[in-house]
Amino acid sequence: MVDNEKLEVRESTRIERIGAHSHIRGLGLDDVLEARLVSQGMVGQKDARRAAGIVVQMVREGKIAGRCILLAGEPSTGKTAIAVGMAQALGTETPFTSMSGSEIYSLEMSKTEALAQALRKSIGVRIKEETEIIEGEVVEIQIDRPATGTGQKIGKVTLKTTEMETNYDLGNKIIECFMKEKIQAGDIITIDKASGKVSKLGRSFTRSRDYDATGAQTRFVQCPEGELQKRKEVVHTVTLHEIDVINSRTHGFLALFSGDTGEIKQEVRDQINSKVSEWREEGKAEINPGVLFIDEAHMLDIECFSYLNRALEQDMAPVVIMATNRGITKIRGTNYQSPHGIPIDLLDRMIIIRTVPYSPEEMKEILKIRCEEEDCQMQPEAMIVLSRLATQTSLRYAIQLITTANLVSRRRKSPEIQVEDVKKVYNLFLDEERSSRFLKEHQDEYMFSEIESGAAMEI
Ligand code: ATP
Repeated sequence: MVDNEKLEVRESTRIERIGAHSHIRGLGLDDVLEARLVSQGMVGQKDARRAAGIVVQMVREGKIAGRCILLAGEPSTGKTAIAVGMAQALGTETPFTSMSGSEIYSLEMSKTEALAQALRKSIGVRIKEETEIIEGEVVEIQIDRPATGTGQKIGKVTLKTTEMETNYDLGNKIIECFMKEKIQAGDIITIDKASGKVSKLGRSFTRSRDYDATGAQTRFVQCPEGELQKRKEVVHTVTLHEIDVINSRTHGFLALFSGDTGEIKQEVRDQINSKVSEWREEGKAEINPGVLFIDEAHMLDIECFSYLNRALEQDMAPVVIMATNRGITKIRGTNYQSPHGIPIDLLDRMIIIRTVPYSPEEMKEILKIRCEEEDCQMQPEAMIVLSRLATQTSLRYAIQLITTANLVSRRRKSPEIQVEDVKKVYNLFLDEERSSRFLKEHQDEYMFSEIESGAAMEI
Protein backbone atom coordinates (compact mmCIF):
# COMPACT_ATOMS: atom_id res chain seq x y z
CA MET A 1 0.00 0.00 0.00
CA VAL A 2 2.76 2.37 1.04
CA ASP A 3 4.68 1.39 -2.05
CA ASN A 4 1.66 2.11 -4.22
CA GLU A 5 1.31 5.55 -2.69
CA LYS A 6 4.96 6.28 -3.29
CA LEU A 7 4.60 5.17 -6.88
CA GLU A 8 1.63 7.44 -7.45
CA VAL A 9 3.39 10.47 -6.02
CA ARG A 10 6.35 9.88 -8.25
CA GLU A 11 4.27 9.42 -11.38
CA SER A 12 2.10 12.45 -10.85
CA THR A 13 5.28 14.55 -10.55
CA ARG A 14 6.32 13.27 -13.95
CA ILE A 15 2.92 14.17 -15.45
CA GLU A 16 3.29 17.71 -14.10
CA ARG A 17 6.53 18.04 -16.02
CA ILE A 18 4.87 17.10 -19.31
CA GLY A 19 3.94 20.47 -20.77
CA ALA A 20 1.20 21.21 -23.28
CA HIS A 21 3.77 21.27 -26.07
CA SER A 22 6.45 18.89 -24.78
CA HIS A 23 5.71 16.46 -27.63
CA ILE A 24 6.85 19.05 -30.21
CA ARG A 25 10.48 18.46 -31.22
CA GLY A 26 10.70 20.63 -34.34
CA LEU A 27 8.70 21.67 -37.39
CA GLY A 28 8.92 18.24 -39.04
CA LEU A 29 10.15 19.52 -42.41
CA ASP A 30 12.31 17.74 -44.96
CA ASP A 31 15.44 19.13 -46.66
CA VAL A 32 13.45 21.21 -49.13
CA LEU A 33 11.29 22.61 -46.31
CA GLU A 34 8.25 20.49 -47.27
CA ALA A 35 6.19 19.50 -44.22
CA ARG A 36 5.97 15.76 -43.54
CA LEU A 37 2.43 14.75 -42.52
CA VAL A 38 3.53 13.49 -39.09
CA SER A 39 7.04 14.29 -37.93
CA GLN A 40 8.85 15.58 -34.83
CA GLY A 41 5.57 15.52 -32.91
CA MET A 42 3.89 17.77 -35.50
CA VAL A 43 0.79 16.72 -37.40
CA GLY A 44 -0.87 18.33 -40.46
CA GLN A 45 -1.05 22.16 -40.73
CA LYS A 46 1.36 21.69 -43.63
CA ASP A 47 1.21 25.14 -45.23
CA ALA A 48 1.69 26.98 -41.96
CA ARG A 49 4.61 24.71 -40.99
CA ARG A 50 6.25 25.22 -44.36
CA ALA A 51 5.87 28.99 -44.03
CA ALA A 52 7.31 28.79 -40.51
CA GLY A 53 10.24 26.82 -41.93
CA ILE A 54 11.00 29.66 -44.35
CA VAL A 55 10.96 32.13 -41.43
CA VAL A 56 13.38 29.86 -39.51
CA GLN A 57 15.67 29.88 -42.54
CA MET A 58 15.46 33.68 -42.66
CA VAL A 59 16.36 33.96 -38.96
CA ARG A 60 19.22 31.45 -39.31
CA GLU A 61 20.76 33.46 -42.11
CA GLY A 62 20.61 36.37 -39.67
CA LYS A 63 20.65 38.98 -42.43
CA ILE A 64 17.13 40.24 -42.01
CA ALA A 65 16.13 41.95 -38.78
CA GLY A 66 12.97 43.65 -37.69
CA ARG A 67 10.49 41.48 -39.59
CA CYS A 68 7.12 40.81 -38.04
CA ILE A 69 5.12 37.63 -38.59
CA LEU A 70 1.58 36.96 -37.43
CA LEU A 71 0.25 33.45 -36.79
CA ALA A 72 -3.52 33.83 -37.05
CA GLY A 73 -6.16 31.13 -36.72
CA GLU A 74 -8.94 29.60 -34.67
CA PRO A 75 -8.26 28.41 -31.09
CA SER A 76 -6.31 25.13 -30.78
CA THR A 77 -5.07 25.17 -34.36
CA GLY A 78 -1.45 24.86 -33.27
CA LYS A 79 -0.17 28.47 -33.38
CA THR A 80 1.79 28.10 -30.15
CA ALA A 81 2.83 24.58 -31.17
CA ILE A 82 4.31 25.98 -34.41
CA ALA A 83 6.19 28.69 -32.48
CA VAL A 84 7.60 26.01 -30.14
CA GLY A 85 8.60 23.99 -33.24
CA MET A 86 10.40 27.06 -34.64
CA ALA A 87 12.30 27.55 -31.37
CA GLN A 88 13.39 23.89 -31.45
CA ALA A 89 14.42 24.15 -35.11
CA LEU A 90 16.51 27.25 -34.40
CA GLY A 91 18.43 25.50 -31.62
CA THR A 92 19.96 26.95 -28.47
CA GLU A 93 22.41 29.27 -30.24
CA THR A 94 19.68 31.63 -31.45
CA PRO A 95 17.90 33.61 -28.72
CA PHE A 96 14.17 32.83 -28.62
CA THR A 97 12.08 34.76 -26.10
CA SER A 98 8.50 33.75 -25.50
CA MET A 99 5.90 35.85 -23.72
CA SER A 100 2.17 36.36 -23.58
CA GLY A 101 0.70 39.74 -24.54
CA SER A 102 -0.74 40.09 -21.02
CA GLU A 103 2.73 39.87 -19.40
CA ILE A 104 3.41 43.51 -20.17
CA TYR A 105 0.85 44.62 -17.57
CA SER A 106 3.24 44.34 -14.64
CA LEU A 107 3.28 46.49 -11.55
CA GLU A 108 7.07 46.64 -11.55
CA MET A 109 7.75 48.26 -14.88
CA SER A 110 6.03 50.16 -17.64
CA LYS A 111 4.56 48.35 -20.62
CA THR A 112 7.13 49.72 -23.04
CA GLU A 113 10.01 48.83 -20.68
CA ALA A 114 8.72 45.22 -20.54
CA LEU A 115 8.68 45.17 -24.34
CA ALA A 116 12.13 46.78 -24.59
CA GLN A 117 13.56 44.09 -22.29
CA ALA A 118 11.84 41.31 -24.24
CA LEU A 119 13.20 42.70 -27.53
CA ARG A 120 16.74 42.97 -26.16
CA LYS A 121 16.57 39.44 -24.69
CA SER A 122 15.96 38.29 -28.26
CA ILE A 123 19.14 39.79 -29.72
CA GLY A 124 22.31 37.79 -29.30
CA VAL A 125 25.79 39.32 -29.37
CA ARG A 126 28.64 36.99 -30.26
CA ILE A 127 31.73 38.48 -28.65
CA LYS A 128 35.04 37.23 -29.98
CA GLU A 129 38.08 37.18 -27.77
CA GLU A 130 41.59 36.18 -28.69
CA THR A 131 43.51 34.20 -26.18
CA GLU A 132 47.02 32.81 -26.15
CA ILE A 133 47.49 29.12 -25.64
CA ILE A 134 50.83 27.72 -24.50
CA GLU A 135 51.48 24.07 -25.10
CA GLY A 136 54.35 22.01 -23.77
CA GLU A 137 55.62 19.20 -21.61
CA VAL A 138 55.84 19.75 -17.86
CA VAL A 139 59.41 19.43 -16.67
CA GLU A 140 58.94 20.66 -13.13
CA ILE A 141 56.27 22.31 -11.01
CA GLN A 142 57.06 24.41 -7.96
CA ILE A 143 54.20 25.60 -5.82
CA ASP A 144 54.90 27.89 -2.86
CA ARG A 145 52.34 28.07 -0.14
CA PRO A 146 52.98 30.97 2.21
CA ALA A 147 52.72 29.67 5.79
CA THR A 148 49.99 32.08 6.78
CA GLY A 149 47.88 34.61 5.02
CA THR A 150 45.28 34.66 2.35
CA GLY A 151 45.67 31.15 1.04
CA GLN A 152 47.06 32.70 -2.11
CA LYS A 153 49.45 30.31 -3.83
CA ILE A 154 52.18 31.16 -6.25
CA GLY A 155 54.38 28.97 -8.33
CA LYS A 156 56.30 28.24 -11.46
CA VAL A 157 56.08 25.57 -14.06
CA THR A 158 58.94 24.70 -16.36
CA LEU A 159 57.63 23.70 -19.75
CA LYS A 160 59.72 21.90 -22.30
CA THR A 161 59.01 22.67 -25.90
CA THR A 162 60.84 20.88 -28.70
CA GLU A 163 63.65 23.39 -28.51
CA MET A 164 63.96 24.78 -25.04
CA GLU A 165 62.72 24.90 -21.49
CA THR A 166 60.82 28.02 -20.34
CA ASN A 167 59.55 29.02 -16.96
CA TYR A 168 55.96 30.10 -16.67
CA ASP A 169 54.56 31.88 -13.59
CA LEU A 170 51.52 30.29 -12.05
CA GLY A 171 48.74 32.29 -10.43
CA ASN A 172 46.30 30.92 -7.86
CA LYS A 173 43.70 30.04 -10.49
CA ILE A 174 46.15 28.07 -12.60
CA ILE A 175 47.44 26.23 -9.53
CA GLU A 176 43.88 25.12 -8.72
CA CYS A 177 43.63 23.75 -12.25
CA PHE A 178 46.95 21.93 -11.87
CA MET A 179 45.68 20.28 -8.71
CA LYS A 180 42.32 19.38 -10.16
CA GLU A 181 43.77 17.88 -13.32
CA LYS A 182 46.45 16.11 -11.19
CA ILE A 183 49.25 17.36 -13.41
CA GLN A 184 52.77 16.10 -12.90
CA ALA A 185 56.12 16.11 -14.63
CA GLY A 186 55.96 14.40 -17.98
CA ASP A 187 52.44 15.52 -18.83
CA ILE A 188 51.75 17.42 -22.04
CA ILE A 189 49.50 20.37 -21.21
CA THR A 190 48.02 23.57 -22.60
CA ILE A 191 47.57 26.73 -20.57
CA ASP A 192 45.02 29.28 -21.73
CA LYS A 193 46.56 32.61 -20.73
CA ALA A 194 43.27 34.54 -20.63
CA SER A 195 41.15 32.16 -18.60
CA GLY A 196 43.95 30.32 -16.81
CA LYS A 197 42.46 27.00 -17.85
CA VAL A 198 44.92 24.12 -17.90
CA SER A 199 44.19 21.00 -19.95
CA LYS A 200 46.07 17.76 -19.93
CA LEU A 201 46.64 16.36 -23.44
CA GLY A 202 48.61 13.24 -22.55
CA ARG A 203 52.04 12.12 -21.37
CA SER A 204 55.46 12.32 -22.86
CA PHE A 205 57.06 8.88 -22.87
CA THR A 206 60.57 10.26 -22.41
CA ARG A 207 59.83 12.17 -19.23
CA SER A 208 57.77 9.50 -17.60
CA ARG A 209 60.48 7.01 -18.46
CA ASP A 210 58.00 4.81 -20.27
CA TYR A 211 59.44 2.38 -22.69
CA ASP A 212 57.88 0.97 -25.79
CA ALA A 213 57.56 -2.74 -26.52
CA THR A 214 61.18 -3.01 -27.69
CA GLY A 215 62.40 -1.46 -24.46
CA ALA A 216 63.69 1.69 -26.18
CA GLN A 217 62.81 5.12 -24.88
CA THR A 218 60.43 6.86 -27.28
CA ARG A 219 60.77 10.41 -28.50
CA PHE A 220 58.74 13.51 -27.73
CA VAL A 221 55.53 12.69 -29.47
CA GLN A 222 53.09 15.40 -28.58
CA CYS A 223 54.81 18.70 -29.34
CA PRO A 224 55.19 19.30 -33.05
CA GLU A 225 56.96 22.51 -33.84
CA GLY A 226 54.81 25.55 -34.44
CA GLU A 227 52.15 24.41 -32.02
CA LEU A 228 53.97 25.55 -28.94
CA GLN A 229 52.23 28.88 -28.77
CA LYS A 230 49.07 29.57 -30.68
CA ARG A 231 46.33 32.10 -30.66
CA LYS A 232 42.83 30.81 -30.31
CA GLU A 233 39.52 32.58 -30.80
CA VAL A 234 36.96 32.13 -28.03
CA VAL A 235 33.36 33.20 -28.71
CA HIS A 236 30.92 34.08 -25.93
CA THR A 237 27.25 34.55 -26.80
CA VAL A 238 25.23 36.88 -24.59
CA THR A 239 22.06 38.87 -25.16
CA LEU A 240 21.84 42.66 -25.34
CA HIS A 241 19.61 42.52 -22.24
CA GLU A 242 22.31 40.67 -20.27
CA ILE A 243 24.86 43.33 -21.21
CA ASP A 244 22.36 46.03 -20.15
CA VAL A 245 21.81 44.42 -16.74
CA ILE A 246 25.50 43.84 -16.06
CA ASN A 247 26.21 47.49 -16.85
CA SER A 248 23.27 48.95 -15.04
CA ARG A 249 24.65 50.44 -11.84
CA THR A 250 21.38 50.11 -9.99
CA HIS A 251 21.07 46.34 -10.48
CA GLY A 252 24.36 44.57 -11.09
CA PHE A 253 24.78 41.16 -12.65
CA LEU A 254 23.18 39.21 -9.77
CA ALA A 255 19.82 40.54 -10.98
CA LEU A 256 20.26 38.22 -13.97
CA PHE A 257 19.76 35.23 -11.67
CA SER A 258 16.82 36.62 -9.70
CA GLY A 259 15.20 38.08 -12.85
CA ASP A 260 14.45 41.15 -10.76
CA THR A 261 16.03 43.63 -13.11
CA GLY A 262 13.54 46.48 -12.72
CA GLU A 263 13.66 49.29 -15.27
CA ILE A 264 16.89 49.99 -17.12
CA LYS A 265 17.76 53.58 -17.98
CA GLN A 266 17.68 54.55 -21.63
CA GLU A 267 21.15 56.10 -21.35
CA VAL A 268 22.59 52.70 -20.31
CA ARG A 269 21.00 51.16 -23.40
CA ASP A 270 22.35 53.95 -25.64
CA GLN A 271 25.86 53.43 -24.25
CA ILE A 272 25.64 49.66 -24.80
CA ASN A 273 24.36 50.18 -28.36
CA SER A 274 27.28 52.42 -29.27
CA LYS A 275 29.79 50.08 -27.57
CA VAL A 276 28.40 47.07 -29.44
CA SER A 277 28.49 49.04 -32.72
CA GLU A 278 32.16 49.85 -32.00
CA TRP A 279 32.93 46.16 -31.37
CA ARG A 280 31.15 45.29 -34.62
CA GLU A 281 33.26 47.76 -36.57
CA GLU A 282 36.44 46.42 -34.99
CA GLY A 283 35.38 42.87 -35.86
CA LYS A 284 35.20 41.90 -32.18
CA ALA A 285 31.46 41.22 -32.11
CA GLU A 286 28.65 40.04 -34.33
CA ILE A 287 24.93 40.58 -33.86
CA ASN A 288 22.79 37.45 -33.90
CA PRO A 289 19.15 38.60 -34.16
CA GLY A 290 16.82 36.00 -32.66
CA VAL A 291 13.07 35.77 -32.22
CA LEU A 292 10.57 37.40 -29.87
CA PHE A 293 7.34 35.39 -29.76
CA ILE A 294 4.29 37.23 -28.39
CA ASP A 295 1.34 34.88 -27.83
CA GLU A 296 -2.15 36.37 -27.38
CA ALA A 297 -0.98 39.48 -29.25
CA HIS A 298 -4.47 41.02 -29.10
CA MET A 299 -3.77 41.64 -25.38
CA LEU A 300 -1.24 44.35 -26.34
CA ASP A 301 -2.65 47.88 -26.46
CA ILE A 302 -2.25 50.80 -28.86
CA GLU A 303 0.82 52.16 -27.02
CA CYS A 304 2.57 48.80 -27.29
CA PHE A 305 1.75 48.48 -30.98
CA SER A 306 3.07 51.96 -31.65
CA TYR A 307 6.26 51.20 -29.67
CA LEU A 308 6.79 47.95 -31.62
CA ASN A 309 6.21 49.71 -34.93
CA ARG A 310 9.16 51.98 -34.20
CA ALA A 311 11.35 49.39 -32.48
CA LEU A 312 11.16 47.13 -35.54
CA GLU A 313 12.79 49.83 -37.64
CA GLN A 314 16.04 49.75 -35.67
CA ASP A 315 18.89 47.78 -37.21
CA MET A 316 19.37 45.71 -34.05
CA ALA A 317 15.77 44.45 -33.95
CA PRO A 318 14.88 40.75 -33.68
CA VAL A 319 12.25 38.96 -35.77
CA VAL A 320 8.93 39.35 -33.93
CA ILE A 321 6.34 36.58 -34.22
CA MET A 322 2.87 37.19 -32.84
CA ALA A 323 -0.05 34.81 -32.47
CA THR A 324 -3.74 35.53 -32.09
CA ASN A 325 -7.06 33.69 -32.33
CA ARG A 326 -9.15 36.88 -32.53
CA GLY A 327 -11.17 38.01 -35.54
CA ILE A 328 -12.21 41.62 -36.10
CA THR A 329 -12.15 43.15 -32.65
CA LYS A 330 -11.33 46.34 -30.71
CA ILE A 331 -7.73 47.46 -30.50
CA ARG A 332 -7.08 47.65 -26.75
CA GLY A 333 -6.92 51.22 -25.52
CA THR A 334 -9.10 52.54 -28.37
CA ASN A 335 -12.67 52.34 -29.58
CA TYR A 336 -11.56 51.29 -33.06
CA GLN A 337 -11.96 47.83 -34.47
CA SER A 338 -9.34 46.15 -36.59
CA PRO A 339 -8.59 42.64 -37.89
CA HIS A 340 -7.13 40.60 -34.98
CA GLY A 341 -7.29 43.72 -32.77
CA ILE A 342 -4.00 44.89 -34.35
CA PRO A 343 -3.70 48.38 -35.94
CA ILE A 344 -3.72 48.41 -39.74
CA ASP A 345 -0.31 50.14 -40.02
CA LEU A 346 1.37 47.33 -38.04
CA LEU A 347 -0.61 44.65 -39.89
CA ASP A 348 0.61 46.18 -43.11
CA ARG A 349 4.24 45.49 -42.25
CA MET A 350 3.49 41.91 -41.14
CA ILE A 351 3.44 38.71 -43.11
CA ILE A 352 0.55 36.58 -41.98
CA ILE A 353 0.61 32.80 -41.60
CA ARG A 354 -2.84 31.28 -41.27
CA THR A 355 -3.57 28.10 -39.33
CA VAL A 356 -6.66 26.07 -40.23
CA PRO A 357 -8.89 23.67 -38.23
CA TYR A 358 -7.79 20.02 -38.17
CA SER A 359 -9.48 17.10 -39.91
CA PRO A 360 -10.75 14.27 -37.65
CA GLU A 361 -7.78 12.08 -38.76
CA GLU A 362 -5.28 14.80 -37.87
CA MET A 363 -6.88 15.24 -34.43
CA LYS A 364 -6.66 11.46 -33.87
CA GLU A 365 -2.96 11.56 -34.79
CA ILE A 366 -2.31 14.42 -32.34
CA LEU A 367 -4.20 12.56 -29.58
CA LYS A 368 -2.12 9.42 -30.23
CA ILE A 369 1.10 11.46 -29.91
CA ARG A 370 -0.17 12.99 -26.65
CA CYS A 371 -0.96 9.48 -25.30
CA GLU A 372 2.62 8.43 -26.01
CA GLU A 373 3.95 11.62 -24.41
CA GLU A 374 1.95 10.95 -21.25
CA ASP A 375 2.90 7.26 -21.24
CA CYS A 376 -0.74 6.16 -21.56
CA GLN A 377 -1.93 2.99 -23.27
CA MET A 378 -5.31 3.51 -24.94
CA GLN A 379 -7.52 0.82 -26.43
CA PRO A 380 -8.19 1.50 -30.18
CA GLU A 381 -11.97 1.75 -29.52
CA ALA A 382 -11.38 4.30 -26.76
CA MET A 383 -9.19 6.29 -29.16
CA ILE A 384 -12.03 6.36 -31.70
CA VAL A 385 -14.42 7.69 -29.02
CA LEU A 386 -11.89 10.30 -27.85
CA SER A 387 -11.24 11.47 -31.44
CA ARG A 388 -14.97 11.82 -32.00
CA LEU A 389 -15.20 13.90 -28.83
CA ALA A 390 -12.35 16.11 -30.06
CA THR A 391 -14.27 16.87 -33.25
CA GLN A 392 -17.49 17.58 -31.37
CA THR A 393 -15.91 19.65 -28.56
CA SER A 394 -12.30 20.80 -28.97
CA LEU A 395 -8.85 19.31 -29.38
CA ARG A 396 -7.69 20.89 -26.11
CA TYR A 397 -10.59 19.39 -24.15
CA ALA A 398 -9.88 15.93 -25.62
CA ILE A 399 -6.15 16.25 -24.76
CA GLN A 400 -7.11 17.01 -21.15
CA LEU A 401 -9.30 13.90 -21.01
CA ILE A 402 -6.24 11.69 -21.66
CA THR A 403 -4.67 12.45 -18.27
CA THR A 404 -7.94 12.14 -16.36
CA ALA A 405 -9.06 8.96 -18.17
CA ASN A 406 -5.65 7.45 -17.45
CA LEU A 407 -6.04 8.14 -13.73
CA VAL A 408 -9.50 6.56 -13.75
CA SER A 409 -8.24 3.47 -15.60
CA ARG A 410 -5.38 3.09 -13.13
CA ARG A 411 -7.81 3.19 -10.22
CA ARG A 412 -9.52 0.21 -11.86
CA LYS A 413 -6.07 -1.39 -12.11
CA SER A 414 -6.52 -1.59 -15.87
CA PRO A 415 -3.32 -1.53 -17.97
CA GLU A 416 -4.98 0.60 -20.65
CA ILE A 417 -7.63 3.30 -21.05
CA GLN A 418 -10.91 1.80 -22.20
CA VAL A 419 -14.11 3.30 -23.61
CA GLU A 420 -15.75 3.32 -20.17
CA ASP A 421 -12.89 5.46 -18.75
CA VAL A 422 -13.29 8.05 -21.51
CA LYS A 423 -17.08 8.11 -21.02
CA LYS A 424 -16.65 8.50 -17.26
CA VAL A 425 -14.36 11.53 -17.48
CA TYR A 426 -16.51 13.03 -20.25
CA ASN A 427 -19.39 13.02 -17.77
CA LEU A 428 -17.26 14.24 -14.87
CA PHE A 429 -15.68 17.19 -16.68
CA LEU A 430 -17.70 19.54 -18.86
CA ASP A 431 -16.44 21.00 -22.08
CA GLU A 432 -17.04 24.68 -22.85
CA GLU A 433 -20.24 24.09 -24.86
CA ARG A 434 -21.97 21.91 -22.26
CA SER A 435 -20.98 24.29 -19.49
CA SER A 436 -22.42 27.28 -21.40
CA ARG A 437 -25.59 25.37 -22.19
CA PHE A 438 -26.00 24.51 -18.52
CA LEU A 439 -25.54 28.16 -17.56
CA LYS A 440 -28.14 29.27 -20.08
CA GLU A 441 -30.63 26.77 -18.70
CA HIS A 442 -29.96 27.53 -15.03
CA GLN A 443 -28.95 31.18 -15.10
CA ASP A 444 -31.78 32.20 -12.78
CA GLU A 445 -30.36 30.05 -9.97
CA TYR A 446 -26.99 31.89 -10.04
CA MET A 447 -26.19 35.15 -8.27
CA PHE A 448 -25.96 38.42 -10.22
CA SER A 449 -27.18 36.87 -13.43
CA GLU A 450 -27.17 39.68 -15.99
CA ILE A 451 -28.92 37.91 -18.83
CA GLU A 452 -32.66 38.26 -19.12
CA SER A 453 -34.51 34.96 -19.48
CA GLY A 454 -34.86 33.99 -23.10
CA ALA A 455 -32.27 36.54 -24.36
CA ALA A 456 -29.49 35.27 -26.56
CA MET A 457 -26.12 34.99 -24.86
CA GLU A 458 -22.85 35.99 -26.37
CA ILE A 459 -19.70 34.55 -24.93
P1 ATP B 1 -5.06 29.35 -28.88
O1 ATP B 1 -5.47 30.23 -30.01
O2 ATP B 1 -6.25 28.92 -28.08
O3 ATP B 1 -3.94 29.91 -28.06
P2 ATP B 1 -3.24 27.64 -30.37
O4 ATP B 1 -3.55 27.78 -31.81
O5 ATP B 1 -2.04 28.35 -29.85
O6 ATP B 1 -4.54 27.97 -29.52
P3 ATP B 1 -2.00 25.25 -29.40
O7 ATP B 1 -1.95 25.65 -27.96
O8 ATP B 1 -0.74 25.32 -30.17
O9 ATP B 1 -3.14 26.08 -30.12
O10 ATP B 1 -2.61 23.78 -29.55
C1 ATP B 1 -3.41 23.12 -28.58
C2 ATP B 1 -2.78 21.76 -28.24
O11 ATP B 1 -2.71 20.92 -29.38
C3 ATP B 1 -1.36 21.87 -27.73
O12 ATP B 1 -1.13 20.86 -26.77
C4 ATP B 1 -0.53 21.62 -28.98
O13 ATP B 1 0.76 21.16 -28.66
C5 ATP B 1 -1.37 20.60 -29.72
N1 ATP B 1 -1.23 20.78 -31.17
C6 ATP B 1 -1.83 21.73 -31.91
N2 ATP B 1 -1.48 21.61 -33.20
C7 ATP B 1 -0.66 20.56 -33.29
C8 ATP B 1 0.01 19.93 -34.37
N3 ATP B 1 -0.11 20.38 -35.62
N4 ATP B 1 0.76 18.85 -34.11
C9 ATP B 1 0.88 18.39 -32.84
N5 ATP B 1 0.27 18.94 -31.78
C10 ATP B 1 -0.49 20.02 -31.99
